[in-house]
Amino acid sequence: MTMHLRSLLPPLQRGMRHIVEFALPWQCTICGCRDDRGNDAFCADCLGQLTHTQDQCRRCGAVIGPFGTATGRCPHCRRRPFRFRSARCLNMYEEALKTAIVHSKQSFSSAAMMAVGQLLVSRQRQWLAELSVDRILPIPQAWLTRFRRNFNPADVIARCVGHSLRVPVDPHILRRRRGWQSPQKAVPLARRYENQRNSFRLRDARVIAGQCVLLVDDVLTTGATCSEAARLLKAAGAKEVHVLVAARVADH
Ligand SMILES: [Zn+2]
Ligand SMILES: [Zn+2]
Repeated sequence: MTMHLRSLLPPLQRGMRHIVEFALPWQCTICGCRDDRGNDAFCADCLGQLTHTQDQCRRCGAVIGPFGTATGRCPHCRRRPFRFRSARCLNMYEEALKTAIVHSKQSFSSAAMMAVGQLLVSRQRQWLAELSVDRILPIPQAWLTRFRRNFNPADVIARCVGHSLRVPVDPHILRRRRGWQSPQKAVPLARRYENQRNSFRLRDARVIAGQCVLLVDDVLTTGATCSEAARLLKAAGAKEVHVLVAARVADH
């Protein structure tokens, strides 16, 4: 097979999966069951697991229980030099939520990711109301990832938040620098901050001045990506930068 034909295979396989997705009856995005529907994307049992809430670290959003919030730093973030002020999530990137995010990203439709976004909004409704956000910016995907996926999960979640708060969502202000790619998973955590340096640029930075900005992404791991975006926004005059993600990866 020539290289040209070989490069056509992944899109064709994706296309077949999309046809199958549309043809089959409703199915839970997490466990695959076809009954006991809880909402558009998840069965009642999986929905219960997703909405099981616990206290989160005020600074990084990690689930830490009732005693970890006092100092504002937890085992997941105490060595992280974040440039954003605070972060929140729906839950940790584990079990049902991890499966929900992985399966939602693979789906042709953004409906399941939207359902995750709606759960996130209702979980963090009070925190969001207290922030008085002026503008919501989704974290853009690395340029190569854009060709692999049908949608940017961060865009979908940001639209849910913007719709609920009636705050403008702008997916074009924050841009990935051309040619920049996500670092390999093997890169030590400490070096990820260095690797993210200058990975973004701002378009029309003037609108950011004096604003409270909410950065939105699907998953927060070390915080290096959101921290670099926050650094750039603060340099452009943003008053405050906060982060909202669907899931927080345990980071020790
Ligand atoms: Zn289920
Ligand atoms: Zn923390």
